[in-house]
Parts: sequence; C-alpha cells; structure tokens
Amino acid sequence: MAAASPLAAALVAATALAATPAAATPQGVAAPDVVLTGDITGQDHQTYREAPFTVPAGVTRLTLRFDYDKGAHTVIDLGLLDPERFRGWSGGSKSLVTIAPSDATPSYLPGPVVAGRWRLLMGVPNARPGSSSHYTARIWFDRGDGHAATDAATPPPLRTGEGWYRGDLHMHGAHSDGSCASQSGVKVPCPTFRTVEAAAAAGLDFIALSDHNTASQMDDIRELQPWFDKLLLMPATEITTFHGHIQAIGLRRFVDFRLGTPHVPTMGALADDAAKAGAILSINHADLPSGELCMGCGWTAPGTPYDRLTAIEVVNAKNAEGPLSGFAFWYARLNEGHHLTGIGGSDSHDPDAPDGRAPVGRPTTVVHARELSQEAILDGIRSGDVFIDVEGKPGRLLEVEAEAGTAHAPMGGTLTLKEGALTLDIHAAGVAGGVVEVVHKGQPLPETTPIASADARTRVTLRREQACGWVAVNIRDGKGAPLLVGNPVYVDCR
Ligand SMILES: [Zn+2]
Ligand SMILES: [Zn+2]
Repeated sequence: MAAASPLAAALVAATALAATPAAATPQGVAAPDVVLTGDITGQDHQTYREAPFTVPAGVTRLTLRFDYDKGAHTVIDLGLLDPERFRGWSGGSKSLVTIAPSDATPSYLPGPVVAGRWRLLMGVPNARPGSSSHYTARIWFDRGDGHAATDAATPPPLRTGEGWYRGDLHMHGAHSDGSCASQSGVKVPCPTFRTVEAAAAAGLDFIALSDHNTASQMDDIRELQPWFDKLLLMPATEITTFHGHIQAIGLRRFVDFRLGTPHVPTMGALADDAAKAGAILSINHADLPSGELCMGCGWTAPGTPYDRLTAIEVVNAKNAEGPLSGFAFWYARLNEGHHLTGIGGSDSHDPDAPDGRAPVGRPTTVVHARELSQEAILDGIRSGDVFIDVEGKPGRLLEVEAEAGTAHAPMGGTLTLKEGALTLDIHAAGVAGGVVEVVHKGQPLPETTPIASADARTRVTLRREQACGWVAVNIRDGKGAPLLVGNPVYVDCR
C-alpha cells in the first residue's frame, strides 16, 4: 500500500507496529498454562500495574515470556511477586524468566515455586498520553513428569548442523570440592566461572558441570550460558554414594543420592528418579579401589540395572590404562550383552590443574550429534557414535563404519552378520605414527595397522569369528599408549 501523504505514512507505520504479533510459543514447546493479556495506556504513565495468576500445587518450575507492543515509546518493566515475597525485578532487561528451586534467571531468586496467588508486576516509566500498548505474558509450569517450563526456557542450539562435538563430562567447582588459588594465592572454593573459562580455553564445545550431590551450580549456568555462547553448559550431578559414584548428566533438578536408605532404596529407584529428572546415567571411575583406601570410589552398588544406564566413564583423568582405568569394567559389561557407551571425564577439581592432575578437557569425549544442544549431545551419547580423545587434542578424529553385505553401522550401531566377513572403514586424524587396534569382545586382535598420515583411511576385514558379539577400534601411539578409544559396533551373528 502506497502512502499518499506524510500523515498517512506515519499512520501506516504506527499501524504496522501495533499489528506486530507478540512472539508466538517457541517451536516444540507446549502451549502455555496461563496467558495474561492487557493494555497499558497513557493513564498508566509512571505507575505500577499488577496482573495476578494462580500457581497450582506441585509446580517445580515456572517460565514466563513477556512481549508487548513497543510502539509509541511505551516502556514496561517487569517483576514478579510470589504469595510470600518479591521474587525479582528485571526492569526492561529480560523478556524470558525462569524460576525453580535450583536456579533462576539473573534478577530473580531461585526457590520453591509455592502454590497460590502470584502477581506479575509491571512498572511503566513511560506511556504517552492517548497511547495504548498491548501486552501478553505466557507462563509455563513443570509438573510431575511434564516439563513445559524447562522446554520454554531452553535456549536455541549454540550451533546447528550434524558433526563431531568435543566435550568434558566430569568436573567440580565451588559447589562441591573444586578449589583454586585466590587472588592472594590461598586455596578457596573455585568459582564456576573459572572452570568454564578453562573449558573454553581448551576449545571444547560442551561441558557437564558435575558437582557432588547438588544441583546448586545450575544457577551459575543460568548466568554464564548467555555469555559463553559457543560452549554448551550442561547441568550434571556426580551422585556420590557409599557404593560408588554415578554421573547424572543433563538433569533438570536435584536427584537424591542417599542410595540404600528409604529415600533411594535401590539402584532401580535411583534410575527412575534420574530418568524423571531428564538425565542419563554413567558410572564414574568404576575400577578405582573402595574402602578406606578410597571411600566409595569403585563401583560396588548391588543390583545395578545396567540396561537402564547409558554410559561408563572408561577414562577418568589420566587413568587411560592400567588397573585404575575403566576398561575392564566396561568390557565386562559389554560381554554380558549390555550396550553402554564408553566416555571420558577429566574429573577436574582445579581449573589451573597443577602438575599431576588432569586439566579440563583431558580426556575429551567426542560425540557425533545433530547439533550443539543438550538434548542432541545426550542423544549422541545414547547412540554410541562417540570416541574418547585421551589427551584432548583438538583435531583428533576417529570415525568407524562397519559393513556387512549391504548393511552399514557406525559406532554404537548394530549389524546382523549372517555369513561372510565384516569390514571396518576407519578414518583417523591427528594421530600419524600410531596404529589401529581392533578389539573383539574385549581382546585385542594380534594384527595392528600403522597410520602413516595425519588424515588416514584404513580398511580392516574381519572373519566372522573375529567379529561376532562386538568389535571396537582404538588408536595407540608408537609406544602402545591409547590415544583414541572407539565405541563398539554390535555384531549379531544369530
Ligand atoms: Zn567420583
Ligand atoms: Zn568427580
């Protein structure tokens, strides 16, 4: 439509602004539980307006998205009151707010989402005489197994596109026993920011901040993630029991650790709770000693439902080989028929990593994922197309594709082998001078293949008796130390 006069042009512009629809519900997110709408007019200039809403019992997170028509220079500042107290005031700085017992958007206080009458508080520093501005507040609740509020608060992927993403799935900071040197050189609980900086400096794409038996680090993640917009920060808890340590990666809330008490009577109950909290489970440093030598370090929990776990931490810190590595435990579970992804974790307790301790990113777990988002990384670990870069050297790569007849499978996949041979197509980068080792049901095959170039493709053919069950590829250096640890391809010969 062409405007015939300056006045008409101004009217068209104003109409276009007024007609701008408030941002719709984000894609993939359920419809809001509550929608509040209204109009702010010139009469509201420099006043506070309230819009009440009811939070039912049993809500564990609340997410609010606030949109309004900013035409005519109207400004609406935002705050929230729960039935008992002020929960925060973000002024004009935020349009998306989430509040839960563990974490809240900066400006807001984490804590229980108490049932009752809440109020959206709108401050109006400016509304011109005669103006009118429409607002929409969409509010989502997490309740029981539903997590609409978590979904609504989830940021978009940090990077789109399928690829190999590098991360560290195990580290500690001030929220448990991580420490570092203060300004004066005194060992103090180490702020989360320092650990996250170290991960960014190591060139990682994602980390799991996994303090012992707490989810209090989630509030730091709320604050840090917008600034670290190239490094995905995943909440995790190292569930630390008297019978071993198990990593809950990607959880939405606290998971009770008191295994063997009425609170968490069995490992099955722990697995139930972790699944409801949205996490995958991985046993940490399973082969460390237990007892007074290392209290509850090795994995001794009775009745572990391995089919409900996702992963095993095969390489913890510098324990890539020898009695403290997790290989024996992992291989034993694979030989029992469980499909568990081998991962690694630095178990960093100090981002400055004094000599002898593994720094953040050593080892690195490298995950083939559809994008860089928490759900995609968790799905990638579930799928098993994953390798461990023992020394954490950016640029190292291990891709494995198994072939039987016309069927193909990557690491973590299953192939049926009725007859004939199995071929492994191996792509290894950054490991020239090393050798390809093929492991069959936990035993390395005697022949190894040297890697001559920095970007090498190797083809290995296995007879049926060398392939049935599961096979995995490792890359070792010239002295035999593991550099890259591949995950199994499962081979069904029945
Ligand atoms: Zn541990
Ligand atoms: Zn740990």
